[in-house]
Amino acid sequence: MNEPFLLSNLIELQELDNEIFKLISEKSEGTTVKELKTHEIEFKKLQSDKQNIENELQLYFEAKNHIEKSISESQLKINTINEKLNTNLDASELQNYNLQKQNFEKNLLDYEKSLNEINEENSDELERINNIDLSLEGLKPTLLSLSKKLQNEWGDIDLKIGKYEEEKKLLLSSFPKGIIDLYDDLKSKGVEVIAAYKRENQCGCCGVDLTSNEMYEIMNSRFQQCPYCMGVVI
Ligand SMILES: [Zn+2]
Repeated sequence: MNEPFLLSNLIELQELDNEIFKLISEKSEGTTVKELKTHEIEFKKLQSDKQNIENELQLYFEAKNHIEKSISESQLKINTINEKLNTNLDASELQNYNLQKQNFEKNLLDYEKSLNEINEENSDELERINNIDLSLEGLKPTLLSLSKKLQNEWGDIDLKIGKYEEEKKLLLSSFPKGIIDLYDDLKSKGVEVIAAYKRENQCGCCGVDLTSNEMYEIMNSRFQQCPYCMGVVI
């Protein structure tokens, strides 16, 4: 009943699976991926700090928008009046437009003064936002180059995984279905070493000492499994 050749192939299958598993772990635990994660966390933290300050400054931003809108409206009006002043006007029109212009210019100065005042009042927070923006900008090239590096590394790893998967497929094609089921079953049960050569009177999988009777029973059982660890002893 025993098929020693096929059973020893289980060791090869297990080694391929171990290599594939190692490569998959490398993808999530490599130096680059860890470095990238650290920087991403830093980036998000800065973004959230910035958001918090901006939330605190909500009233400031509303006032600022309002004043800036008034400034551009005043400038537009002054421009329009300037165009009118460049045309032929009679004395009263001239006086009228000049007065209007003076009013808008005065408003414009007031708005600009208010804008300076609220900027000054909030200068500490604005400075903090500015510094955060600089840090965020400084992090972007690092994040970009780490992402590229990681993509390349993962590409290489995927190629290796692909090769092992091919080898595995080829190997499995020579396996009887019963053996494949056994392997999958032991794997799903979390058996750490699925197949190994015996070492004198020890199970090669778990290392337990076996009596000669136990060893005899193992070697004469269907899949040569160790009764202690379920591993296949070859
Ligand atoms: Zn064992």
